[in-house]
Amino acid sequence: MTPILPQATLGLLGGGQLGQMFALAAIAMGYRVAVLDPDPDSPAGRLACLHIQAAYDDRAALDQLAAVSAAITTEFENVPAESLRYLADRVRTSPSAECVSVAQDRITEKRYLASRGFPVVPFQVIETANDLNQPLDSCLPGILKLARLGYDGKGQVRVKTREAVAEAFAQLGAKPCVLERQIELQTEISAVIARTADGQTACYPVAENRHRDGILDVSIVPARVSVAIAEQARDMACRLADAMDYVGVMAVEYFVATDATLRVNEIAPRPHNSGHFTQDACVASQFEQQVRTLCGLPPADTRLLSPVVMANLLGEPWHDGSAAIGRLLAGSNVKLHLYGKREARSGRKMGHVNLLATSTESALQQLSLLRDRS
Ligand code: ATP
Ligand code: MG
Repeated sequence: MTPILPQATLGLLGGGQLGQMFALAAIAMGYRVAVLDPDPDSPAGRLACLHIQAAYDDRAALDQLAAVSAAITTEFENVPAESLRYLADRVRTSPSAECVSVAQDRITEKRYLASRGFPVVPFQVIETANDLNQPLDSCLPGILKLARLGYDGKGQVRVKTREAVAEAFAQLGAKPCVLERQIELQTEISAVIARTADGQTACYPVAENRHRDGILDVSIVPARVSVAIAEQARDMACRLADAMDYVGVMAVEYFVATDATLRVNEIAPRPHNSGHFTQDACVASQFEQQVRTLCGLPPADTRLLSPVVMANLLGEPWHDGSAAIGRLLAGSNVKLHLYGKREARSGRKMGHVNLLATSTESALQQLSLLRDRS
């Protein structure tokens, strides 16, 4: 594949924070970026040389994006797979519609993983009220999750009995769902991997992820898990990317059960929040990899240069008030990334920090001091 070199224009579906960070990486490398996003004031749209303000299935807008772009990628999985297919017929596009459609529906995703022998938690598909009549005991107590469009723990209800499952199904709008057994977790980890069209892969060191209220709170790298678990996670991410013939950057989230076995939780067909540490702690960031894999360049080195803790900045209380931001910036080892969102709603991801230190313990200590004072 002929590499696409700087000065070319890269097209992007979606103008949110992941798009913004892709655009920053691409622009730093000398590319131009064109964004398609219906939002008139999106974080990536503001950086783009061209912002096409239209819906993701608007054919004229897709034609316009294809006409100006040497290659096109997406910042998130909830774009219509049909739009990716349409673009791929016109211009180099990655990841493929097939890969994105596996990841954008929990039913397809779980079935795909299970059928190829990747370990997942026990699950049952509940597409219609009829499916509530099947035996559910093997997945209880469990979590009923909407098959599509869930994120940050939204569209999920914890359930203990079959009656509760029926209630939750109605509460979620009687839309297709997956019921997952709730397992006891030792911890959660993720692996971010880049894969090129000719099958070269580069996987980052795994991150240990802690959630708060269903939203990622911190990622700790190196993860405090055994070498064997970390290797298994990286190896599984490679095998999965190969099996899908995936091109681009992909994240695989895992549960580490209390018996120290790994289960794949979900796949994100894009750079991931738990991979933001790579921006400041690795030779190349996950967004640079997204540019490279899109442009047919070899993947960059994924080596970790320093222990790091990434912490998300949610709407409340950190973003509110420049005092908190000032305190963060006072830390000489704190790298601040803000997404330029105007409205700081509670629970909304406004930005993140990477704290680089000589050990993850000291980074965590510093983080808790910063948070106590905020
Ligand atoms: P995100 O957008 O952050 O990936 P999401 O909406 O896709 O979130 P999940 O990853 O399915 O949601 O679940 C969010 C969190 O809830 C998990 O990271 C984990 O902490 C917990 N969780 C989800 N499923 C299970 C399970 N089967 N057993 C135990 N804990 C679970
Ligand atoms: Mg998740």
